[in-house]
Amino acid sequence: MSPASFRLGDFDCHVLYDGSRSIGSMTEGSAMRFVFGDAPEAEVEAALGPYGGISPDTRIHFNYLLAENEGHLTLLDVGCGDQAENDENPDEPAGLLVKSLGEAGFSVDDVDTVVVSHGHWDHFGGAVTAGKATFPNAEYVMSAKEAEYINAKAEGWAREYLRVLGDKLRLLPDVAEVAPGVTVKVAPGHTPGIAVTELSSRGETLLYTSDIILHPIHVEHTDWIPSFETDKVAAAAGRRRLIEDAHRRRLLLFVPHIPGVLGTVKRAGTGYMWADDHRSA
Ligand SMILES: [Zn+2]
Repeated sequence: MSPASFRLGDFDCHVLYDGSRSIGSMTEGSAMRFVFGDAPEAEVEAALGPYGGISPDTRIHFNYLLAENEGHLTLLDVGCGDQAENDENPDEPAGLLVKSLGEAGFSVDDVDTVVVSHGHWDHFGGAVTAGKATFPNAEYVMSAKEAEYINAKAEGWAREYLRVLGDKLRLLPDVAEVAPGVTVKVAPGHTPGIAVTELSSRGETLLYTSDIILHPIHVEHTDWIPSFETDKVAAAAGRRRLIEDAHRRRLLLFVPHIPGVLGTVKRAGTGYMWADDHRSA
């Protein structure tokens, strides 16, 4: 299970649980192909052994990050919101982030900055509720490249969300500090403008990976790219750079879709491996 909250330098961090969904509810195809694309099946199966394999029943978890520093409250991704379509998935409720925010002791009014990593439903679906910004006092930020992609290619609801957010949304260049110690960096591949976010304080740095990593095995096999990436070559190269950087700089990783969320990159032979991190507040 993920920690409810933890500290990173001067940051107070809270993991906000948004729910989980089975892979079978998201694809009619092979669960293995969904997460690992064209990777050699026998090799994937062997690598998956320690993780209990993968099947249509395997749950993808949704966890996002609320970070408080110098009196400033930043939310990294907003969860599924209304896009969870819980009516069609009654046994797998999602879109629970606002409830989790309340359990952490905050309300939607308290959030100052909302960072949207990319335009997929499980990260951006909660940005708007009943036609209004879910976090009324927040500045929403997103990379200009992702907004361009959403306007050109994404589903109708995501384009509508951009319109609803209007002046509340600030579009970012490829690297931007958006709050004290909070830096957003574009890392294209999963989508053309997806961004990761770094929190830095007192010599410690956390990297919120968004969907650059979905499964611990992606740390070992940077070229096993999910079937739904917009640019597989860029995704593999970008993931490789991210893993090397995380190892060299000893970053703490926050991966929204790994159940324990926190980990580090350790050396394994000539490559790398995911290692769970068990810190708590
Ligand atoms: Zn995702």
